[in-house]
Amino acid sequence: MGYKVVGWSGVSAVKAVRQNYSGSIELSRLMDVFRRMTNDCIRTGLVNNVSSLGKLSSLSYNKLSNYDSPSYYKLCAISRAAGILAARKKSVRRGFPVREPYSVRPQLISCYGFKIRNGLLEIPVARGIRFGIQLTKHTLGAISQPGVEVRSFTLTPHSLSICISREVAPIECVSTIGVDRNLRNLTVGNDQETRQYDLSESVRIARVAVDIVGSFRRNDNRIRQVVSSKHGGRRARRTMHILHNVTKRVVSVAVQQRTAIVLENIEGIRSLYRKGNGQGSRYRARMNGWSFGEAQRQIEYKARWVGLPIIRLSRRETRGSSVTCPRCGERLQSDKRLRRKLWCNNCRMVMDRDVVAAVNLSRRGRLRFDRSQPTTKAQGPPREAMVSEREPERATLIRTVDGGKIDSQRA
Ligand SMILES: [Zn+2]
Repeated sequence: MGYKVVGWSGVSAVKAVRQNYSGSIELSRLMDVFRRMTNDCIRTGLVNNVSSLGKLSSLSYNKLSNYDSPSYYKLCAISRAAGILAARKKSVRRGFPVREPYSVRPQLISCYGFKIRNGLLEIPVARGIRFGIQLTKHTLGAISQPGVEVRSFTLTPHSLSICISREVAPIECVSTIGVDRNLRNLTVGNDQETRQYDLSESVRIARVAVDIVGSFRRNDNRIRQVVSSKHGGRRARRTMHILHNVTKRVVSVAVQQRTAIVLENIEGIRSLYRKGNGQGSRYRARMNGWSFGEAQRQIEYKARWVGLPIIRLSRRETRGSSVTCPRCGERLQSDKRLRRKLWCNNCRMVMDRDVVAAVNLSRRGRLRFDRSQPTTKAQGPPREAMVSEREPERATLIRTVDGGKIDSQRA
């Protein structure tokens, strides 16, 4: 017996593979032309108050005739401009302040005219002339997977990103797991089992970067900027690496156990740690340095790629998920002596804050199934899948007792 997920068609999954490459003068010129064409189209769109692709094409295609560029790129520049204008329109509608959009960075995006041959991405640079970019082993591996189709490529001065898609059959899930993102860990699970993935290493990396930049004493803003951007980049790369390992495992365990992943709504998380909220600046820096959205983004695209359903809870469904008792629904009490533990007065039980959140999120996600399919009953994941699960050695895994306790006492 399985669940069907409403609102998720699961026909085509999309993802991107990125690699570095060494550029050429010819490509730099093309990227600059592309950037200027895009800006031209944006201006045309703004002047005529148009953002749809069709209207923008008819208004601006002829204007692009002065540009020395293969016509493929003209079409893609219009499409890119239409995308930027549509995003701007959306922001205006939502009442966000907008600036006049302008694309500053040289880049080239195209879904036409390229070929992949002999390990090279061949892209047209002028009439009858192609430029070949050597693809890395990683890129070639990703694009040659069965069923994978190459959709488009994006070039910036040093990096190449290839967008690939494939048709996936949605996985029929037997249960749900909630994902709770915290500063020092990612807690994933439901009332059967909870796993905690340690992320404290990334907190340490962040602190080291902050300390190095903070120890800079010379009164020279220019050099300070160079130093901080160097360490910022290094920090971002190392943090991303840790996060990628963890999210990959979260998704692969979920696929094995056939559990849909429930994500909380994190809108407004930044406003929790703003100046004037009575928090210290170091605390705020630590909390805001955190990639709350990034963990979700990675889990989501990795899950979609394999056909695993994702449930995004609304703001209302997320509310109170970390302070409500998963057993009785009572509001949990916190105590300074208990640190990250919570106390339920009703059940006379101490619970782990992170586990509580993950369990609640999984429950709330499961409610959607139950509402849409009243005859389907929740089933636990197969037990042997958990036992035989082999964990890579990189991150620590804690099989929490609390999760099991909650379950056994509920029935
Ligand atoms: Zn309770």
